[in-house]
Amino acid sequence: MTIGILSKEYKTISTADSVEKSFGFRTVDRVEKQALVNEVFHSVARKYDIMNDVMSSGIHRLWKNAMVAWLAPPQRMAGWQILDIAGGTGDIAFRIVKVSGWQARVLILDINQSMLKVGREYANKKGYAACVDFIEANAEAMPFEDNRFDACTISFGIRNMSHINRVLEESWRVLKPGGRFMCLEFSEVAIPLLDRLYDVWSFYGIPKIGKMIANDTVSYSYLIESIRRFPKQQNFAEIIRQAGFSRVSYRNLTGGIVAIHSGWKI
Ligand code: SAM
Repeated sequence: MTIGILSKEYKTISTADSVEKSFGFRTVDRVEKQALVNEVFHSVARKYDIMNDVMSSGIHRLWKNAMVAWLAPPQRMAGWQILDIAGGTGDIAFRIVKVSGWQARVLILDINQSMLKVGREYANKKGYAACVDFIEANAEAMPFEDNRFDACTISFGIRNMSHINRVLEESWRVLKPGGRFMCLEFSEVAIPLLDRLYDVWSFYGIPKIGKMIANDTVSYSYLIESIRRFPKQQNFAEIIRQAGFSRVSYRNLTGGIVAIHSGWKI
């Protein structure tokens, strides 16, 4: 299905367990989607962090800081255990460790070896290695016992998943009672005009920058298209509730370009 890139008629994805899934604006089966997503992150891993800075003019750092500030990891409680799902190169995990005063322990889970490899290198170079660990695994079937973590975070990861519901249900399962789930993700821009400007930047600017810096237009076109297929704020909050979470709420940042969702396992 072709969609006018500046039109608002974005096809909404169903998170029901159907066979077909969106890969950008293409519809592919779920197995193919995961393989394509893996290819994207293998391809961009080395340039991933610099591309984030360039694409967002560094604003992704403020968004990530905002999520970690809202999570508010305790500073005097040693051994707070956090699972950072789709943690990639460790950007969220390192922030949590720092804000907790080096008390928290963060396990970075990601399906992609290339992203984890870069993350390990950063952890060693930046001195976080004693506080973080890495595991290569699929967020849709986590290799952990029930009730293990104090918090689960996921930043710019969930829209890449083939089964969003499974990731949410797995997060609920591995959280301790009283544990918290937090998700940072692109969302629907709520301010007129900003939405138009954002469209132009996304569809024309970002793929060009992707070509220039990472020599990869396709991956960055996918990233933008996948953002447009993701459920909007209220719908995603409902999906989180349906996975079992309580007291679900969200905050828009930068006019809704991204939103942080929070839910509790009670
Ligand atoms: N959380 C990091 C951040 O905010 O910078 C990285 C986000 S990156 C956009 C998305 C990550 O999701 C990639 O590292 C990718 O490998 C990972 N991912 C995609 N599908 C996954 C899955 N099924 N299970 C675990 N990780 C997955």
